[in-house]
Amino acid sequence: MSEHFFEIKNYSCGYASFRLNDISFSLKRGAFAGIIGPNGSGKTTLFRGISGTLPPLAGQLILQGKPLKELPLQKRAQNIAIVTQTVDAGQITVEDYVLMGRIPYHSRFQFFESKRDYELATKYMELTGVLHHKDKLMTELSGGEQQRAAIARALTQEPELLLLDEPTSHLDITHQVRILNLIQRLNAEMGLTVLMVIHDLNLASEYCDQLIMFQKGKIFLQGAPDQVLTFDTIEQVYQTPVITRINPYSNKPVIFLVSEKMLKKH
Ligand code: ADP
Repeated sequence: MSEHFFEIKNYSCGYASFRLNDISFSLKRGAFAGIIGPNGSGKTTLFRGISGTLPPLAGQLILQGKPLKELPLQKRAQNIAIVTQTVDAGQITVEDYVLMGRIPYHSRFQFFESKRDYELATKYMELTGVLHHKDKLMTELSGGEQQRAAIARALTQEPELLLLDEPTSHLDITHQVRILNLIQRLNAEMGLTVLMVIHDLNLASEYCDQLIMFQKGKIFLQGAPDQVLTFDTIEQVYQTPVITRINPYSNKPVIFLVSEKMLKKH
């Protein structure tokens, strides 16, 4: 069996106007990987491909040595949870929404959730800080609260691979760190493999062991944060000059943005 837990091999997918081209990377079990890159570089398109929303145009997605397309849908849903950028919830309570994470485990004629389903949903609503909203409708939550409920639902699914598309985009700094710490804990303690699209380069640096940098539908560079987050690569890919330093506590790179006025001064 392959030592890689999840592999993307020479993979292409996309739309008439945009194509992801020849994407190859792999994750070991228990990896915490981040996908970074400018707007429109294809990060969400890749997630649509992995979730099966977009058909492949070439290449393969391989989970534990097996092509993903050969896995039965239920097994696929037990193994992989995806938190997308937009929460499409409608008029259901937060608790019912989170409980939907258990559907892949229900047998064909099971119409009611089990005690364990409720225990898991309650646990993850508590850990993501939405338990006190459990009887509210999803539509009554703020964007950040909906995002946390979506993460609670994905964790309730007890996946082995967790895909997160911008999980912190609507969160204040308290909840950004709280959610990423929670995912980091599950990654370390339970071997949850994590692949997340993240815009904030400093959070990407601090939490991820492996970064994959996209540019115009291709991988520009991949490696450890200190290999990827350098002045040169950031300037080349984002066309933005930055200052890079090392965080004295974590020894990971930190990126500072500088205004045009200050740049001109120096
Ligand atoms: P990122 O997540 O890196 O910001 P996306 O993967 O969302 O980028 O988008 C990559 C490109 O694909 C963009 O140029 C975007 O306009 C295009 N695109 C995204 N969604 C669609 C769609 N549904 N139909 C056609 N083109 C799309």
